[in-house]
Amino acid sequence: MTAAAPQGLLAKLDTQPRVRDFLMRAVTSDRASHAYLFVGAPGSGKLDAAWALAQALLCERDGEHGCGACDGCIRVARHTHPDVHYFAPESATGYLIAQVRDLLDDVALAPIRARHKVYIVDRAEQLRANTANALLKTLEEPPANVTFVLLGTSTDVMLPTIVSRCQCVPFRMLSARESAAAVVRATGLDEPRCRMAVAVAGSPVRAVEFLKSAERQEARRAMLRLIDSLPRADEADILLAVRDLMGTIKAPLADVKSTQQAILDQNADYLSRGALKQLEERNKRELSARERSGIMEALASARTLLRDVLMVVQGAPDETVNADASDIVERLSRTCTVSGAVAALDAVAHAERRIARNITPQLTIEVMLFDIRKALTCL
Ligand SMILES: [Zn+2]
Repeated sequence: MTAAAPQGLLAKLDTQPRVRDFLMRAVTSDRASHAYLFVGAPGSGKLDAAWALAQALLCERDGEHGCGACDGCIRVARHTHPDVHYFAPESATGYLIAQVRDLLDDVALAPIRARHKVYIVDRAEQLRANTANALLKTLEEPPANVTFVLLGTSTDVMLPTIVSRCQCVPFRMLSARESAAAVVRATGLDEPRCRMAVAVAGSPVRAVEFLKSAERQEARRAMLRLIDSLPRADEADILLAVRDLMGTIKAPLADVKSTQQAILDQNADYLSRGALKQLEERNKRELSARERSGIMEALASARTLLRDVLMVVQGAPDETVNADASDIVERLSRTCTVSGAVAALDAVAHAERRIARNITPQLTIEVMLFDIRKALTCL
């Protein structure tokens, strides 16, 4: 029987046609590798492609590879398939040894509903010597029914021992316009809104999630309002506003917490005490990773706003991305100089580095806002 061409997620990878065709050939000819390394800039669609490949491998229809309609395909598309495991670094400094142990424990188990299991390892450049070593042997000779998909920005920043064990698949970089167009196709929202979402969230996939989350969009607006108020704010105003902002940034975590609790409750009866404890620890790490990414997104909102101010001050208003906040951009640029806008952007970059180094977010944001206020009002 000749295999039917994939119809599901794989067929939709239209921003990366070469990758799409390459992966389609691999799955339809049953020559898929056991370990792939998808390499490309943030926002080039690596994670979309990883889920698409997982769907093609786990499709339940005979002779098909990602029909998009069977139960297995639907579960992969909803990210609820028990045989697809997604990993991202759970600490500010990278992958934890406990995470790699969880992964290896799981690799040894049989699939739950499919015949195959897929492990997606995001930001694989953050696998450092100790965590990578634990993974190497399994990566070289995984069980026959396991596929690894590692995602990384560049092979130069990855351990050669990891790179050499994977089949590398290069992704081309998308322009801001192409990324926004992909978000328009996925959401049906207008182009300026999608362009803003890509600028804030960093990639088309994350932009789509951002546009679905009222809370994340509110955290962005709270940050923009705060920066708007800075020229008239005194120190006490700023400290109070940051406290409110932190509450807004943490609001989406309530959903994550209740999902985690529901999963714990469902499993409480048949998981061992040790396995439950492991799950609770993983939940805690997930929460802190989510909180950190919420803070990074708020900083990105500040960065795009100040970049817009710089564009307007430099006389390039067509380059701005915060169309819905053009009044704020206009107000701030009235009194701001080019060097002031550059200094304000430096303050955000400094804060981003501090958060990446695990320095207290609230304090970091307070310091950043004091510096931005100084930069914006120093004429
Ligand atoms: Zn299917």
